[in-house]
Amino acid sequence: MRILVIEDEAKVASFIRRALEEESYAVDVSADGAKGLQMGLSGSYDLIILDLMLPGVLGLEILKELRKEKIQAPVLILTARSQVDQRVKGLDAGADDYLTKPFAIEELLARVRALLRRGSGEATGLLQVKDLVLNPATREVTRGGQRIELTAKEYALLEYMIRNTGRVLTRPMIAEHVWNLDFDTFTNVIDVYVNYLRNKIDRGREPKLIHTVRGSGYVLKAE
Ligand code: CA
Repeated sequence: MRILVIEDEAKVASFIRRALEEESYAVDVSADGAKGLQMGLSGSYDLIILDLMLPGVLGLEILKELRKEKIQAPVLILTARSQVDQRVKGLDAGADDYLTKPFAIEELLARVRALLRRGSGEATGLLQVKDLVLNPATREVTRGGQRIELTAKEYALLEYMIRNTGRVLTRPMIAEHVWNLDFDTFTNVIDVYVNYLRNKIDRGREPKLIHTVRGSGYVLKAE
């Protein structure tokens, strides 16, 4: 999952980035409101963390512009304790949740998980296709009740695929969402990781869940 952080306080931004990257999210940071808005409008983020007091364009204006342009990604706003009215305006303008600074990083991570879950329409928090089950809160993966050990990257790839079940994911999409890199020289790495996943998820099991779509990419689906 790819997350955009628009925050001008360098310390806060790098703190958030580190914590999210440790959880295997792909993270981009903008310290400037105008640039952040531009990035958000690209539509390539699964979630946006938005500070309200920003140079360039204020957070509230960014939020309004994103919603006006039909960007549906959940937005978590960050506000100072004194900005109660800003928080209300933010929620009115289409923010999905807010956090008051200073906040505990565990709380930020929990809210990020909750917002991504809401986006995927999953009430239990578990992601499931057939007998394959992912728990984003613990990053536990089971198939047919059997625990499967994945590396952080394998997990991130599988979570991206299962959140997009039935949708063909091109290599550039995977590169962008899982590795946060441009596609260019990346094609082999993606194929290698998909094969790792196949070995762990599908080998010796039926039905196969990870499928190659010739000339396009990969899709996770039940048949
Ligand atoms: Ca700020």
